Amino acid sequence: MAKTIPYGRQWIDKKDISSVIAALKSDFLTQGPRVEEFEKLFAKFVGAKYAVAVNNGTSALLAACFAAGITNGDEVITTPYTFSASVNCFVWFGAKPVFVDIKNNSFNIDETKIEGTISKKTKALLVVDFAGVPCDYDQIKKIAKTHNLIIIADAAHSLGSTYKGKKIGSIADLTCFSFHPVKTITTGEGGMITTNKFKYYQKLKTFRTHGIVKDPKNTARGKWYYEMVELGLNLRLTDIQAALGISQLNKISGFTRRRREIVDAYNKHFSDLPVSFTKEPSFIKSTWHLYQVRLAKNLLRVSRKEVFDQLQKRGLGVQVHYVPVHLHPYYKKMFGFKRGDFPNAEKAYEEEISLPLFPKMSNHDVNFVIKTFRDVIRKYQK
Ligand SMILES: *Cc1c(COP(=O)(O)O)cnc(C)c1O
Repeated sequence: MAKTIPYGRQWIDKKDISSVIAALKSDFLTQGPRVEEFEKLFAKFVGAKYAVAVNNGTSALLAACFAAGITNGDEVITTPYTFSASVNCFVWFGAKPVFVDIKNNSFNIDETKIEGTISKKTKALLVVDFAGVPCDYDQIKKIAKTHNLIIIADAAHSLGSTYKGKKIGSIADLTCFSFHPVKTITTGEGGMITTNKFKYYQKLKTFRTHGIVKDPKNTARGKWYYEMVELGLNLRLTDIQAALGISQLNKISGFTRRRREIVDAYNKHFSDLPVSFTKEPSFIKSTWHLYQVRLAKNLLRVSRKEVFDQLQKRGLGVQVHYVPVHLHPYYKKMFGFKRGDFPNAEKAYEEEISLPLFPKMSNHDVNFVIKTFRDVIRKYQK
């Protein structure tokens, strides 16, 4: 049997490798010029004023929560249908999660249900562009404006996606990206926050380096002098990683094109099966981080688990994204969430399978996924 095709993976070429080697041979492995260069190019690509590079997407979310001033006693409204890092980040600052269920035909937050959950303690809306599909930002911005809330976007899936012609990264107050190898571009581990507000930009940079600031004009006390003004951490990206990021960013339009091509092929070949998949509204363009199917369970003779195991056995490295956050033991124990709280998210989770999708897939791989998935579903169809 051929080897398993994973659900996602990186694409590293010779240019990436020589870019990293050049960084390794340079004077700076970290805190050098490549980080700033990567930030400038990234900000330009997404159309934001500022970008701050960090060591992973989780750190990007933490830094964004810090910049937003999220603190003990605050509430943050978010979706239960995401990776736990989207919620852990503000819980770390002492805020309480207030979940709003997803829509029943999408994996994104139902923005029409947000207003009913706003309280005096609500500080921010943390939204997730699931699988690369942007949330309805016009609606979300309207709500945020009315209630004076900060919008943080977890765009770990949606680098390169657009909403009404605008790139993700230029819309929310703070937008967080991940460069894990399964994401749109990679630096091994890495992340970025973009913003248009100088106030947030300064906070992000300070938090990234221990909360330390050094004013080059303030030399009266001595040239060595610096001050720690906030409780920060070390969240720095290295120049080695930034070198890879710069090189990867050059290839993003090709990556996106290929992802969209594969999604089109899957949609075309699965339209007659008892499964559904996310359709792209006319005003968005998704980079498609994931290709998710939802099984029509009433039309199948076996459980999702059996379909999943069968696909894996036949060489598809399928995955399920994700266990809803409110169902994790920590969230049940700490906040009292229980099964039944967010029925749309729970139903989506019960039906979901992510199929292999990454730009380096060959046409042969794509055809293999199509054939295997069709065979398995046909076999189990009622
Ligand atoms: C990948 C991911 C993260 C975390 O990013 P890391 O770089 O792995 O820390 C956060 N949120 C979502 C939705 C993700 O997919």
